[in-house]
Amino acid sequence: MKTPQQFTRFHNLDAVKEWTTKDSDEIYQISRWGEGYFTVGEKGDMCVSPTRAQGGPVINMMEVVEEMKNKNIPFPCVIRFHDILRSQVVNLNKTFRSVIEEARFNGSYFGVYPIKVNQMREVVEEIVDAGSPYNYGLEAGSKPELIAALAMNTNQNSLTVVNGYKDKDLLRLALLGNQLGRKVIVVVEKYSELTDLMALSLEIGVEPVIGLRAKIATKSSGKWASSGGDYAKFGLTITEILQAVKYLRSIDKLHCLKLFHFHIGSQIPDLRTIKDSISEGARIYAKLFKEGAKLEFFDVGGGVGVDYDGTRSNSPSSINYTTRDYVADVVYILKQVCDLEDVPHPNIVSESGRAITAHHSCVVTNVFGALEISATSNFNTDKAVNENILVSNMRELTNDIGPKNYQDVYNDATKLKEESVAAFKFGILSLDERAKLETLYWKLCTKIVEYASLDEYASDEILLLKNSMASQYMCNFSIFQSAPDTWAIGQILPVMPIHKLNERPTEICTLVDITCDSDGKLDTFLSPDGPTNTLPMHKLNGDDYYIGLFMTGAYQDIMGDNHNCFGRLNEVHIFADDDDPTDFYIEEVIYGNRSEQVLATLQYNPETMAQIMKASIDTQVKRGKIRPREGVDLTDFYESCLKSYTYLKK
Ligand SMILES: *Cc1c(COP(=O)(O)O)cnc(C)c1O
Repeated sequence: MKTPQQFTRFHNLDAVKEWTTKDSDEIYQISRWGEGYFTVGEKGDMCVSPTRAQGGPVINMMEVVEEMKNKNIPFPCVIRFHDILRSQVVNLNKTFRSVIEEARFNGSYFGVYPIKVNQMREVVEEIVDAGSPYNYGLEAGSKPELIAALAMNTNQNSLTVVNGYKDKDLLRLALLGNQLGRKVIVVVEKYSELTDLMALSLEIGVEPVIGLRAKIATKSSGKWASSGGDYAKFGLTITEILQAVKYLRSIDKLHCLKLFHFHIGSQIPDLRTIKDSISEGARIYAKLFKEGAKLEFFDVGGGVGVDYDGTRSNSPSSINYTTRDYVADVVYILKQVCDLEDVPHPNIVSESGRAITAHHSCVVTNVFGALEISATSNFNTDKAVNENILVSNMRELTNDIGPKNYQDVYNDATKLKEESVAAFKFGILSLDERAKLETLYWKLCTKIVEYASLDEYASDEILLLKNSMASQYMCNFSIFQSAPDTWAIGQILPVMPIHKLNERPTEICTLVDITCDSDGKLDTFLSPDGPTNTLPMHKLNGDDYYIGLFMTGAYQDIMGDNHNCFGRLNEVHIFADDDDPTDFYIEEVIYGNRSEQVLATLQYNPETMAQIMKASIDTQVKRGKIRPREGVDLTDFYESCLKSYTYLKK
């Protein structure tokens, strides 16, 4: 469980006279994290420019929502923009190509996509297809991932890089790729894998292509710092690397060693760390080359971050560099070190996953209600005869409060409330009196927060009270399924309404999901001034109100879990189409889990359950407790629930 962080920052919603879409862009920071893919349309709807081309297609997300409603696809729903995936793949490859040319670097770029970031077949297929002109390959870190990668990456000119701990089957699978003429490279993460690999290759009669992963000393900051340094989980120490070279030379297989690899963790916030890792890695590469290891590939791993919070800083949810800054550092630093050491420029491999996939998908869902602290309750608080003095005192405070004394009133009211709980436990305060006192207390707090909002010297204590009193908007989704990183590691993801962005949001809110878990909430958001605990939202008026949770394309799908048996979401796959009046079409709908599917993964047998329920209903019918016609309906109802979507129906 994450420890909640409390911030006393608030969006200043009243400072703006006439609310326009620009103001929404500012408070939700869309231009910052949206990277040109996401913008606010004139009508106040969230729009997507999946190719980012001037005059290219622009997809209105509310038109996607309308089409889904027409097709009866219930929310929550994952929306994938395949053209964003393609754009990201092309952008990375083109940037490497252009910087390599500009730097007169002699090697080429052979990127690979690490499928652990999002293994969905349609996602991998799209990436492989968009990357095929650039010989963009795949990276696998487990047996199932390699099984998938071998079937997906049939291009003889692109690489398949195998990382992670390996058993003999995994090594055999890699060698199978080599037997088929593919460029499969086994990256040795621990020394014994090397001897196992050489023994198997002798047995099968095919030469492996070997990579060595180094534990380099450079460490990243941020949430994945422990992937680097001496105590990292993966990789060989410098001593082991030298031993590996010696061993391969002794069996006359040093020519099989082709790749040098390091990976210092994901979401690297600071470009300086990347520079340091390239400098260190390049020196190791050069020295190994001079030792006689004729390495051809220099693999810089993944770790390129994305700007989730839009701050363009080295905060853990952000990055202080662009793709071009990153690529330029890799190419220029590597070139400089190679030239100084007088060794050839190797081909460059990178394994960016997050940066390729994060933007392409989002989760859209409906807000179905609001929980407000009882300030608005119309519980009768009139004075009663022989009323307890605590209640009377609380009522007096409501008469005394003003802009000058609201802090004192808060102190007194809080004390009275504490005393009232003690009095209640002693049996001195009745239930009715306790309800009156609490109603008066929350009315006071509402006033206190209003006065504090106008006071630039308001205490942190009262600003935090403002946070706690924010309305909770109830959203039809599970953060454990759809945004696990917000819960597990406190990652900030952009979340906002996807329409009404030309109207002033008047409510300050936190968001709660539908799991029976008090951790199932979102209460850290981005803002122009840094993280806040509340999100500005529009007042609910009974009409549909939709929010989007953005940048969920990396890691969230596969790490999401089935807490409360909610299961996987419905998905729609969107393709841009300039010729269509809406600029898009829904290419595929993949339905999420039905209750029976989630239950079946937990060893339940839906058919048996339906039979048991039918037998119980029949018994009640026989006893005359349920009429026969009603019994049939109830049996059908239970069965239809088994077969329907797990989330809340509208
Ligand atoms: C996870 C992983 C990656 C992908 O990292 P991103 O930060 O998503 O780019 C790349 N290489 C290896 C070895 C990994 O374990």
